[in-house]
Amino acid sequence: MKDQTDRSIETELAHAGGFTDRETGAVVPPIHPSTTFARDSDYEPVGDYLYIRDSSPNVALVEGVARRLDGGAAALAFGSGLAAAAALFETVPAGRGIVAPEVMYHGTLALLRRLAETRGVGLTLFDPTDPDGVRSAVREGETDLVWIETPVNPTWDVVDIAAAARAAHEAGAVLAVDSTVAPPVTTRPLQLGADLVFHSATKYYNGHSDVGAGILVTATPGTRWDEATAVRHLTGGVLGPFEAWLLLRGMRTLHLRYERASETALAVARHLERHAAVEAVLYPGLESHPGHEVAARQMTGGFGGMLSILVAGGEASARRVATRTRVFVPATSLGGVESLIEHRYAIERGVAPNLLRLSVGIEAAGDLVADLEQALGGG
Ligand SMILES: *Cc1c(COP(=O)(O)O)cnc(C)c1O
Repeated sequence: MKDQTDRSIETELAHAGGFTDRETGAVVPPIHPSTTFARDSDYEPVGDYLYIRDSSPNVALVEGVARRLDGGAAALAFGSGLAAAAALFETVPAGRGIVAPEVMYHGTLALLRRLAETRGVGLTLFDPTDPDGVRSAVREGETDLVWIETPVNPTWDVVDIAAAARAAHEAGAVLAVDSTVAPPVTTRPLQLGADLVFHSATKYYNGHSDVGAGILVTATPGTRWDEATAVRHLTGGVLGPFEAWLLLRGMRTLHLRYERASETALAVARHLERHAAVEAVLYPGLESHPGHEVAARQMTGGFGGMLSILVAGGEASARRVATRTRVFVPATSLGGVESLIEHRYAIERGVAPNLLRLSVGIEAAGDLVADLEQALGGG
């Protein structure tokens, strides 16, 4: 895949934020923790910055890379994924509505529900397994923003981005895609017709479970983008300089980590598909997955490291497995180098009680399979 400057995405990532310092020869950027930026003798800002709540040099480096990776016109980096989502949702006027999947990252859904209750913004939920889900949920003159997530957390159902973009645009709405689980090394929503892309950079972008961050990228500048920028400026949801520096460091290996996680997750999924203690494996990379065809079309760089399994024996069995693994760490979140296992039902009630969510990292596939074997086996 190529970015806007016609460099491959892999090259863009490997050089993320990279430059050579003229004074020292340093090949990685310094950290600028300064909260304020001086003016010159004409009382003009010396550089592009005034105050840290607005932006700062390390944040701008992250944004430049994020913008090029998704092929957008501009990017904004926030201190968390949900801070980014909240800034975008703020741009929806009272009396207009948001359309979103009924199965999705539970935090985003909670935020949308709160918005609907407190700010007079409509919320219509659609079934992400229905190919006509978005089309039947949008209302011309009413829907302002369509928000999709694909693959959908934690069932990994796949929403067709190009079809969702057409349905949103026909109703006069914009399409925003939560592409956290499918970063630009595999999916580039703006190229498929979406207007905005969202990433919880806490996950694959950073990849080392040590930074919380969120990214928004827009296909075009305009009023909505200016408003989202103003919300960040006024509420201070901006990423900090140290976190921005760490995030860029993590991003340099995104392509390698994602490729490895995708390969291993597919091997794990294929292994568990035949396992007597597993009722079902939910992974878009499996031919048996209902979303496989669309996923193969729009996830061109791998199906990612996220899968869920339905454990035979119900809730108690699933809980037991989640406490028995020795390589998979029993913790929430996803997209890090270390594999995680989570009993989702303990966190949110909308999911099957026997569902375990696996975030496959970059360990040896054999160790991960053996770990699941021992956790699933025995009484
Ligand atoms: C984690 C996550 C979010 C929220 O991001 P934070 O960085 O935790 O605020 C949103 N969407 C998806 C798919 C996620 O996995």
